Amino acid sequence: MHNKSVADLSRELASGTISSVELTRQFLDRIRQEDEKYNSFITVTEEQALADAKAADEQRAAGNATPWTGIPFAHKDIFCTNGVRTTCGSKMLENFVPPYDATVTANFRQAGAVCLGKTNMDEFAMGSSNESSHFGAVTNPWGERRVPGGSSGGSAAAVAARLVPAATATDTGGSIRQPAALCGVTGLKPTYGRVSRYGMIAFASSLDQGGTIARTAEDNAMMLNVMAGFDPKDSTSIDREVPDYTATLNEPVKGLTIGLPKEYFSDQLSPAMEEQVRNAIREYEKLGATVKEVSLPNAKLAIAAYYVIAPAEASANLSRFDGVRYGYRCEDPKDLMDLYTRTRAEGFGEEVKRRILVGTYALSAGYFDAYYLKAQKVRRLIQQDFISAFKEVDVLMSPVSPSPAFVQGEKNTDPVTMYLEDVFTIAVNLAGVPAMSVPAGFVDGLPVGLQIIGDYFSEARLLNAAHQFQQVTDWHQREPQ
Ligand code: GLN
Repeated sequence: MHNKSVADLSRELASGTISSVELTRQFLDRIRQEDEKYNSFITVTEEQALADAKAADEQRAAGNATPWTGIPFAHKDIFCTNGVRTTCGSKMLENFVPPYDATVTANFRQAGAVCLGKTNMDEFAMGSSNESSHFGAVTNPWGERRVPGGSSGGSAAAVAARLVPAATATDTGGSIRQPAALCGVTGLKPTYGRVSRYGMIAFASSLDQGGTIARTAEDNAMMLNVMAGFDPKDSTSIDREVPDYTATLNEPVKGLTIGLPKEYFSDQLSPAMEEQVRNAIREYEKLGATVKEVSLPNAKLAIAAYYVIAPAEASANLSRFDGVRYGYRCEDPKDLMDLYTRTRAEGFGEEVKRRILVGTYALSAGYFDAYYLKAQKVRRLIQQDFISAFKEVDVLMSPVSPSPAFVQGEKNTDPVTMYLEDVFTIAVNLAGVPAMSVPAGFVDGLPVGLQIIGDYFSEARLLNAAHQFQQVTDWHQREPQ
């Protein structure tokens, strides 16, 4: 059963060949037996999961099942879960038990899905390798000592290792697409505002977006059906109709025009990676799509703009962790200042502190205009590049990351080396458009992802394009040994 997709499991549950309790037990067993190797979970909620599975079986027996009723899955540990510890990968929130659910959490609960636990992640979602987690690094199931990518590395590794068929994730600069690519699974970052951020612990609010990781595009569509929608509790959530994302999966891609941004096929990309990506694009041509070169002239400025804007927003968002209201508090503070400074010095890890320092500097009087305002102007130009490109083509295709999964420790010494992991993904977040990562081959036995970028609210088209690719390729079915 652990090799089956969400769609298949949903059919099995509906036909009665297995119950949710049995299925939940099987996945819990796998987590218990296998996750020592990967460390993809921070918290496993065994008892709660079995109780929810029992309730799901009862709901089904009563004739009230949704496609998700009784399906096991996991949440990235950035989504607040009522009564279940939510750490965001940080010592600061090591013992934080939220008294409420994130909207995404509530939506899955409402659909009857069974959450098995909370997946590991880079601290406060800052990172590209999952090495900044307070709860230890995650190992990529495709290679010993290889990183799974980040920050949603726990979700991607857990899905790749078949510990859960699906997991939620978030993407601020690449944190769904890059780990999905490095672990050989399928991920979607929706349009900014499509999925509610309420109860999703904030990193950089104008960039953060919740999304999906599963093995197939169809399963991502099933997840987005549950997650997308307007939420009055999130002022940046968009009030717009939610289509059934599974309804258009089978439409042909004949006639689709694909743009290849020339800046994304640069010397930053190894020839072996490029070959895999170009082969994937050739599959689309065989299916009747046409390909042309386009340009995103300001894409090269994306990393620089992001590393002003994201830290600036992070420094403001993380000011709430002060040792007073909730979260970690230092021992025996001698006065209020000592409480603040020591709590934050002891509670935050190195990368988080680096971002707070950079962000506070960029926002300070005298530097605001030079850095923050400038970065926002660049952001606008980047957005304009995408708007212009989508006047010419339906989707853009590119690599997801410059190289496959690297060895743990390899990019830790210089932060900028790590930041360059997102060179092909970050502009998408600055523009707010949706994008996917789809398994598209291997280099040296390690998975390679194809990025598909769409215009605002074109998730259905992206999922359709990914699904059609998965009908003629089997990269997404490959299982790590
Ligand atoms: N790697 C990027 C960063 O460290 C993006 C992380 C993310 O998308 N959450 O900020």
